Amino acid sequence: MSLPQFKLLRPRTMDEAVELLAKYSSDAGTDHVGTAAPGRPARAWFARAGSPQNLSGGRGRPPLHVPVRIIAGGTDLIPSLRQRLFEPEYVLDLRGIAALRGIKPKPDGGVEIGALTTLRAIERSDFLRQHYPVLAEAAATVASPVLRNMGTIGGNICLDTRCLWYNQSLTWRKGCGFCIKKDGDLCHVAPGGLKCWAAFSGDTPPALLCLKAEIEIASAAGVRRLPLRDFYTGLGDTYRKLAPNEIVTRVFLPASSAGYRGVYRKLRVRGSIDYPLAGVAVVMKRSNGHVADARVGITAVNPAPLLVEGAPELLAGKVVDEALAEAVGDLAARTAKPLTTSALTPAYRREMIRVFTKRAVLAAANNQVI
Ligand SMILES: Cc1cc2nc3c(=O)[nH]c(=O)nc-3n(C[C@H](O)[C@H](O)[C@H](O)COP(=O)(O)OP(=O)(O)OC[C@H]3O[C@@H](n4cnc5c(N)ncnc54)[C@H](O)[C@@H]3O)c2cc1C
Ligand code: SF4
Repeated sequence: MSLPQFKLLRPRTMDEAVELLAKYSSDAGTDHVGTAAPGRPARAWFARAGSPQNLSGGRGRPPLHVPVRIIAGGTDLIPSLRQRLFEPEYVLDLRGIAALRGIKPKPDGGVEIGALTTLRAIERSDFLRQHYPVLAEAAATVASPVLRNMGTIGGNICLDTRCLWYNQSLTWRKGCGFCIKKDGDLCHVAPGGLKCWAAFSGDTPPALLCLKAEIEIASAAGVRRLPLRDFYTGLGDTYRKLAPNEIVTRVFLPASSAGYRGVYRKLRVRGSIDYPLAGVAVVMKRSNGHVADARVGITAVNPAPLLVEGAPELLAGKVVDEALAEAVGDLAARTAKPLTTSALTPAYRREMIRVFTKRAVLAAANNQVI
């Protein structure tokens, strides 16, 4: 499959990048959702444009045209362009912006990670392996070494959601009459419904959620910072709160999350390369053998990565044993809502969330220095 024609924009600085985005994203939102002027804060833009139908063009509406797409490592965007999932007039390449790279420990004990930092750099960082091991472990499971050398943390956070009916060639999708996420007005997974259930399938976001990560987002209007848990919408098509004129620039991990032991477990068809079909991250801190604090995050079984509500309370103050780990697994399985968006059945994926959560909780507890 060939790439569609587009013009490549190659800024060298962030100022240049946000200016170019403001200029070329200006017609995104000039159709039925009204004018989304360059520099409009994402929240306002999203509030106007943020329904599945408005952005994807489902239910008979014309699709919102996004004329410019950001490329970082390109490991997800390039295949999507080939499949004509996006047909932008411009592609803005972030790779010339040196300021977006690097892992910078902060004096207060936290760390700042540039959005262009590769997953390989994260996986190999001594600092992250020592202080935030769950992130290094999750990054090490993404795709294959070649893809981790190119793929970035920003791209992993912003990754498009995935579905059997969507990640296909134009000819394939046309043969099925398209779907709500792109060009159509029905969902093959949940027929009759208006919601897209495509699964968010990035490996690092559940780990980042467990670590209470925040992200920085820049546009010509300025910079905003938000907790990662507020970045995702829970919808399969309009899955992230990011306006077309905005760039994710940095990830922050607080000092208060340092030193937690962490474990990441994932289910995939080919162990050497595939996206997760279910993934679980667990972080835990213990004191005198009892859980002082813990969090559980899941991915690839909902349209957004999620923290498992109730897990910290269930674990707090207890000694981890088989029964407790199983109870946390039950809670995680109840949070998972996989549908037939992938090659494996929803029942199997939900069951593997239960199994992996139990194993990860036990492993995180055994990892601990008491
Ligand atoms: C064969 C194969 C296997 C894969 N397996 C996995 C896997 O196991 N786990 C996994 O998590 N991923 C997997 N991926 C997807 C991908 O390699 C990773 O998610 C990677 O981290 C994406 O980063 P990137 O820099 O290449 O993103 P890109 O492809 O450049 O971009 C991805 C998306 O994010 C947007 N974007 C990128 N950076 C920014 C930014 N700074 N600000 C705003 N928007 C941005 C782009 O516009 C695009 O929509 C796989 C891909 C392939 C081809
Ligand atoms: S869940 Fe799949 S089939 Fe349904 S709208 Fe989303 S991408 Fe299309």
